[in-house]
Amino acid sequence: MNQQNNTQQRQFDSCSDHIVRATACGNAMRAFACRTSDTCREAVRLHDLSPVAAAAIGRLMSGVLMLGCDLDQPGDTITALVQGDGPLQNITVVGEENATVRGTVRQPHVETRYLKSGKLDVGSALGKGTLTIIKDMRLKEPYIGRVALVSGEIAEDIAAYLSISEQIPSIVSLGVKMDRGGITHAGGLMVQLLPNAGEDIVSWLEERVCHLPDVTAMIEDGATPAAMRARLLGEENMTIHEQVPCSYACPCNRERMVKNLLAMGRKELGELAQDPHGISLECHFCDRHYHFSQTEIRQVLGDNPHVE
Ligand SMILES: [Zn+2]
Repeated sequence: MNQQNNTQQRQFDSCSDHIVRATACGNAMRAFACRTSDTCREAVRLHDLSPVAAAAIGRLMSGVLMLGCDLDQPGDTITALVQGDGPLQNITVVGEENATVRGTVRQPHVETRYLKSGKLDVGSALGKGTLTIIKDMRLKEPYIGRVALVSGEIAEDIAAYLSISEQIPSIVSLGVKMDRGGITHAGGLMVQLLPNAGEDIVSWLEERVCHLPDVTAMIEDGATPAAMRARLLGEENMTIHEQVPCSYACPCNRERMVKNLLAMGRKELGELAQDPHGISLECHFCDRHYHFSQTEIRQVLGDNPHVE
């Protein structure tokens, strides 16, 4: 029992990635906060990202992890797709119900530019474009919402998505801080106003947001996600509902890759089966490689006669 408590304590200190979900001010708002430093480092390691690419995908992963708190069944997913006309081109991030996330960037080595403030210029790297959110709760149809990018800085774009597509006025703050050695701190904070939030609560929140330091500055100071959120909303106004560890993980496996093979169609797969070396597929999210021999491809075709 003690050991279990210690484990739990360790999971939720300021040095481990996790998400906190709470309500505040008498259920007038929902609040989420996360630390994602290790999650973002794993994306950089897998995809060899330039600083601006790392900041873009890191911010989007933190946002998706917090939006993903609404998923409630294993297998439910949320996908965020940012498509822009800037050099990064596009970013895809997928979050699962178990608070894992994975992502990929079309152009991982884009040159890094900085804003006058010294922050990474993610907006120019993405350019003009759209943010699409797909929530797949495995019902008949997934929910799809799309908004134009406001700034391409990700946090404002997610706030615009929540406001326009889900009619939820929100405050979103996301940060990825780097030095020459890579990512030092990353995380996010999100507050969603519920329908019973009155004007007084809105003004009170706006006032508090003005005095809130950057997310990465708070994490650097040793703040846990719960402490960040308390800094914004006040300890006494919050009820914490959940604290869960989060991480970068890809659920790909050979079985899923067989499905990808079949999705190519019988004709193309039949042509690939002519190659005596077989074929290799690579997962874009985790870089794992899957090799299928000529015999195995023929067997896949034989086992799935219904595939056209
Ligand atoms: Zn994978």
